[in-house]
Amino acid sequence: MRRSLDLRHVVSPGLRDLIELANTHNFDRVTEQVRNLRGCTRPINLHGWTVTTDPATKKVVRSYHSEDEPSGRLLTTCGNRRASRCPACSRVYAADTYHLIKAGLSGGKNVAETVRDHPRAFVTLTAPSFGPVHNRKTDGTAKSRPCACGQSHAEDAPELGTPLSPTTYDYTGAVLWNAHAGQLWARFTTYLRRALAEHLGMTQKALNAALRVSFAKVAEYQKRGLVHFHAVIRFDGPDGHTTPPPAWATFDALSTAVGLAVERARLIVESDAIGERVIAWGRRFKVDPITALGDGELTDARVAEYTDANVAGYIAKYATKNAEGAGTVDRTLMCRPCAGRGYVRGPSRLPNRCADCHGTGQAEPIKALPVQQHVRQMIRTAWDLGHLPEFAELKLWKWAHMLGFRGHFSSKSRAYSTTLGALRDVRRAWRIAQAEAARARAGLPATDETTLVTTSSWTYLSSGYRPGEELLAAQVRHDIAHTQCLKQEGLVPA
Ligand SMILES: [Zn+2]
Ligand SMILES: [Zn+2]
Ligand SMILES: [Zn+2]
Repeated sequence: MRRSLDLRHVVSPGLRDLIELANTHNFDRVTEQVRNLRGCTRPINLHGWTVTTDPATKKVVRSYHSEDEPSGRLLTTCGNRRASRCPACSRVYAADTYHLIKAGLSGGKNVAETVRDHPRAFVTLTAPSFGPVHNRKTDGTAKSRPCACGQSHAEDAPELGTPLSPTTYDYTGAVLWNAHAGQLWARFTTYLRRALAEHLGMTQKALNAALRVSFAKVAEYQKRGLVHFHAVIRFDGPDGHTTPPPAWATFDALSTAVGLAVERARLIVESDAIGERVIAWGRRFKVDPITALGDGELTDARVAEYTDANVAGYIAKYATKNAEGAGTVDRTLMCRPCAGRGYVRGPSRLPNRCADCHGTGQAEPIKALPVQQHVRQMIRTAWDLGHLPEFAELKLWKWAHMLGFRGHFSSKSRAYSTTLGALRDVRRAWRIAQAEAARARAGLPATDETTLVTTSSWTYLSSGYRPGEELLAAQVRHDIAHTQCLKQEGLVPA
């Protein structure tokens, strides 16, 4: 029999809820559910069922109903890739991205191991200058030369990357560059193939028949609020990663072609309001060979050696970041009900001032954002350009908080390696194998998994924990951090 509790004297809502959960029919299951989320910040709450039947015998092999859970719902991880939103899920995403890049470099996960002998380059492409900014010049020695403003800035000085002269800095050019960076990358990949054919004295057709070029890239924000790209470029034979590239497809040819493509790839933007603009890469770009072995440490400024593992680690690290590196906010500023217009159409089709944003179109006023002046000016410029019909397709209101960039943070060509979906499938298969092992231990009869039919129906309820579960999740996070700590100190095996 369940006692009814008098919890009026328990002040903390979390504790009160935890006691209520402890009084449900299965508190172990409550804690197990939270533990399975591995510290996820805002899990998804679902209601529904999944039933697996054997079509031959019409028997139900297993079934799951969220109603049977002590709290009546199923909790699953949010799966957000961004560290600012969910550190736990972003770690899983980073690990998957690592394996994806690593497989493209040294094989594994269905990629031929011989790819490590193919020419591979680590390429960094940057934006041009839109005006002088405060910087910290190091000439290889520990001492830094003074900035153009006359000062020597500390490594973490907030003014680094901000314009020396904000009134003459080309904010329009900077925002439009970010907004076209994804397109410029696409053009670069086309021009790279053309430049290769030209450099090798072949027709494009002959080159395409003998050589495949695959890419994996991540976007990263520099302090000045402009995106730049890090990419892995690999040569394969005509049938992709399983075939070796022709002998003439060398790293040197790749390196030369990158230089030509950087110079030639450009977009012309025409606008009545701002005139004609050329979107092109900055002169500073880097091409380095990737080696299969070595233990060099890869950092932003100094590169000892590019190896499979450190390139993959570097790219994975940036895959979980958005524009945080530039000090901006991690949410759109566009008012959703009016889509940034500031008005909504009433029943008479006449525009009515939007009640959510009081007609500004902004979910949060740009002038009140807790960001640096330079970042605010980038956001404001993006917002103003968003009013011009010729830039409508850039969706600058929606992406103003990203300083104009709306591209994908990481992407790869299909031929590069495995996919994130495939990695998730591997994890799912592993869980099924675990369940199967548990079944065998319990002495239950085996079922032929391949012929079973699964049907399910799920609806979204909400996001987040109950207050009591939040306390349990905090404990899980603490335990994970503690284990991590012990591993680093070598007290438990990694
Ligand atoms: Zn999560
Ligand atoms: Zn300075
Ligand atoms: Zn609005």
